[in-house]
Amino acid sequence: MTSEPIIYEGKAKIMKIIGDIAEMTFKDSLTAFNGKKRSSFDGKGAINAEISYILFKLLEKHGVNTHLLSRKDEKTLVVKKLEMIPLEVVVRNYVAGSLRRRVLLEEKSKLPFPIVELYYKNDELGDPMINSYHARLYGISEDTISEIEDKALRVNEILTKALESVGIILADFKLEFGYYKDGKILLGDEISPDTCRFWDKETMRSLDKDVFRFDLGDVRKAYLEALERIRNVKI
Ligand code: 5GP
Repeated sequence: MTSEPIIYEGKAKIMKIIGDIAEMTFKDSLTAFNGKKRSSFDGKGAINAEISYILFKLLEKHGVNTHLLSRKDEKTLVVKKLEMIPLEVVVRNYVAGSLRRRVLLEEKSKLPFPIVELYYKNDELGDPMINSYHARLYGISEDTISEIEDKALRVNEILTKALESVGIILADFKLEFGYYKDGKILLGDEISPDTCRFWDKETMRSLDKDVFRFDLGDVRKAYLEALERIRNVKI
């Protein structure tokens, strides 16, 4: 007996869940500032799907367990169905974005060590930054937090090195994790110019969603440049 697929549509992706697996289709839409700024461009979904595919494969090769199974078509990845942990885990190597409101350091300066931040995914509260005590209120244990933070820092090491080799600085990024059916914590969601700050190493120019957020130029060109470089990452 096959069960009916369950479909969730978000701002950037459609998830079609079929039993233990899910098809994650990347949309061409582009949103920022909690959906207040919207646009789209042809090919954006395919670019983000390919970048996520390459980077998840790279992480798997280096021993990080992710939800990736395969790429079904240009815009669709097949992934393991996870029970998502309601956290956004942000890792930062440089000063940018919301960190500017928390530290007296110059924009685009390098941090002396990576910073990990946790945000509780909740629309009503507007995804507030939380610590491990708050997380316990939501049933996320300290052990789970420390496992997630260790994994996020490992992802940071692998991606920083790989992207550096193609002239990209990984300024910061956001990850999401979930439980697989066997209870293991796997890296889920996506890794793309929507969820990372990628800067050209020579000029510090953005190759990511900041181009759209702050009208810094041709966003399609920026995403394509990120993809073309990431295709050359040696894995
Ligand atoms: P910030 O806190 O500076 O706005 O974001 C830090 C990093 O996490 C950036 O690379 C940003 O793109 C990513 N990020 C944080 N929150 C979200 C979110 O809700 N959605 C997406 N797509 N990325 C996020």
